[in-house]
Amino acid sequence: MRFLPFSLGAGVEAGVLQVERDVLEELPFQVQWLNQVHGTEILEIESMGPALTADAMVTRVPGVRLLIKTADCIPVVLADEEAGVVAAVHAGWRGLTADIVPLVVARMVELGAVAERLTVGIGPSLGVECSEFSDPRVEIPAKYHWAIRADKHVDLWAILERQLREAGVSEGRVEWMRVCTCCSPEWFSWRRDHDARRFGTWIELTR
Ligand SMILES: [Zn+2]
Repeated sequence: MRFLPFSLGAGVEAGVLQVERDVLEELPFQVQWLNQVHGTEILEIESMGPALTADAMVTRVPGVRLLIKTADCIPVVLADEEAGVVAAVHAGWRGLTADIVPLVVARMVELGAVAERLTVGIGPSLGVECSEFSDPRVEIPAKYHWAIRADKHVDLWAILERQLREAGVSEGRVEWMRVCTCCSPEWFSWRRDHDARRFGTWIELTR
């Protein structure tokens, strides 16, 4: 297992776990994880327990580790260290285009965070060269049709970039790996491998 950290603040630990088996088999510590369903439900987590059904989590409790599992979908972790609020988001194309990331930013703001102060880490996910849709004008909501390319590929990274900017997140506070899972054999890719293995992206307040 290899840990690639994000630097989201002195009181925040976060990063991507590169694994050879499914992340849940290799994890060296307890986490809260989700049965991810490509929706927009956000759960506030007070303590770690069995898997819950949702696609995003927020917590204000130090030591609670939030883990997102992905293999092509976009894993996003966010922190406002000063407010003591962190979040982890599973943004597949359905959740992304249903605005799960701006919804999470709004929930963090309700809990005391300030959008301009957020630090954000984004792990490997499907790049535009590999994100071909069968009928994107039907599958993607009209407000994101600008991200559809002539070859039926959809630039999901551009959608996320715009959502973060419109939510007030500063570009300089976003750490984005910009690695395509499908093109990079060191990451799991459902599109490439069609299997159940997922790697992990995790965040934790440490104080
Ligand atoms: Zn690719």
